[in-house]
Amino acid sequence: MAKKRVKVGFVGLGLMGAPMAANVLKAGFPLRVWNRTADKAEPLVAAGAGRAATATDVARGADFVVVMVADDTAIDSVLFGENGLSRGLKRGAVLINCSTTSPAISYRAATALRSISVRYLEAPVMRSVQAARDGKLQMLVGGSREDFAKAEPVLKAMASDIHYIGEIGKASTLKLALNLVVAAMTQTFAEYFVMARKTGIPFETMMEVLKVGPLDSQLFRYAEQTVVNPGGRPSFYLKHMLKDVNLAMDLARQMDVPIPLTSEVRQMLVAAKNLSRGDEDFAALIDLMAGWAGVPMRG
Ligand code: NAP
Repeated sequence: MAKKRVKVGFVGLGLMGAPMAANVLKAGFPLRVWNRTADKAEPLVAAGAGRAATATDVARGADFVVVMVADDTAIDSVLFGENGLSRGLKRGAVLINCSTTSPAISYRAATALRSISVRYLEAPVMRSVQAARDGKLQMLVGGSREDFAKAEPVLKAMASDIHYIGEIGKASTLKLALNLVVAAMTQTFAEYFVMARKTGIPFETMMEVLKVGPLDSQLFRYAEQTVVNPGGRPSFYLKHMLKDVNLAMDLARQMDVPIPLTSEVRQMLVAAKNLSRGDEDFAALIDLMAGWAGVPMRG
């Protein structure tokens, strides 16, 4: 693929979208970007991306458009709203939805885009902001194999581990299932933390035991960092974790699958959000549990 001739558009320059778009640009693709809050596009424009006035404008002439927005409502709006992408996409273009959204919105988007001869891939990601910066996301792709092969050079600019999962809907479902594990593990870490803390065991000891034993994981190391460096910039908003858990619960209901642990964790996320913690990192769950247990986070 001659990168300079392949035009890429990017919509959604939040915590994840901005570094992902920067890597598409660094990989040599001519890039045009749009974000609802316009000033978030500034650093990319300064780095050489074109500024589009609307999502429709991003779509015009693009061979691929990557979308990284919050949720189903946002996808619906940027695709099909006034000044949406669907009004500008050319025949044969590929829309790549990297947001964590429902399988239902993927079916709907794929069907509507097919009617204007535009291809659709869902490509939700694992890992967080640092991996997005490093171009080392893990990506799960759903859609036709042919579209996947076509889009792979663009996907490789953002992700180091790319898995083709199957037809549309499967990658979104797997992503939501993975996030159940992330939510439950974070809650479990919080419970481990408060039990040990209440006993007076130093945090360093708790972590050393956890890390050397069979339970070590990148996720627990991430949780450790949020305890060690409190008040840092969030990597993954708690409100988005609640969104994912809600999507997973809707899906589980439709599929008649019991996910009891997830519904428990959801109670915690709802409580945290109602305590105005939705815009904090989801690891605020640990702090919330510390409060309930009557133990200090630090010290
Ligand atoms: P974020 O910082 O909140 O960014 C959300 C983006 O969506 C922003 O660009 C926002 O625009 C845009 N948006 C929201 N509602 C919109 C609407 N109605 N119309 C147009 N644009 C809208 O979130 P993020 O962390 O980048 O996450 C983006 C997606 O990736 C989410 O689905 C999240 O679940 C998923 N994800 C996140 C992580 C992570 O670690 N952060 C990891 C894996 C997956 P404004 O700037 O105008 O608000």
